[in-house]
Amino acid sequence: MKTCLIPGSFDPITVGHLDIIDRATKLFDHTIISVMHNVKKKCIFTLEERMELIKKVVGERPDVEVTYFDGLMVDYARAHHVDVVVRGLRAVSDFEYEFQIGALNHQLYPELETIYLMTETKYAFLSASMVREIGYYGGNIRDLVPPQIYDEVREKLLKK
Ligand code: ADP
Repeated sequence: MKTCLIPGSFDPITVGHLDIIDRATKLFDHTIISVMHNVKKKCIFTLEERMELIKKVVGERPDVEVTYFDGLMVDYARAHHVDVVVRGLRAVSDFEYEFQIGALNHQLYPELETIYLMTETKYAFLSASMVREIGYYGGNIRDLVPPQIYDEVREKLLKK
């Protein structure tokens, strides 16, 4: 059985994240979506809210688990017998960051593979920070977040 890990901030989950999740679940027997809990990174949605939003979008599935981690991603991966980390690649600008973090993670835990899934072109310029910014100013985020969480995300961003 092959297990993959999709780590991220998911502040909040977007249709771009969902695209990567959908592809990963087709490739692996078990998928762990894990929300990064980093006290130094200020998020709009709390850890619990971010996990709840993902669960609402993914639904009950025996092959998908929604968790969180703090500390090093490689430590979490090792402890949970993850075979492969899945990351999404958008524009070229993602490459440099991913290249650096991928190389460091490989040094820390050489047995762990990282694979990069290219996003659909229509999501290539979508990021959670864009969603936060557009939502904060009352712009239309309907096509940017999954429909199950649209109202909740919109309301929270407007109140920020
Ligand atoms: P963001 O940069 O949107 O805040 P996260 O830190 O939550 O994203 O990233 C989690 C993972 O999802 C990363 O691998 C990131 O590259 C990927 N990702 C985020 N947005 C998209 C998108 N629009 N298309 C493909 N992958 C994405």
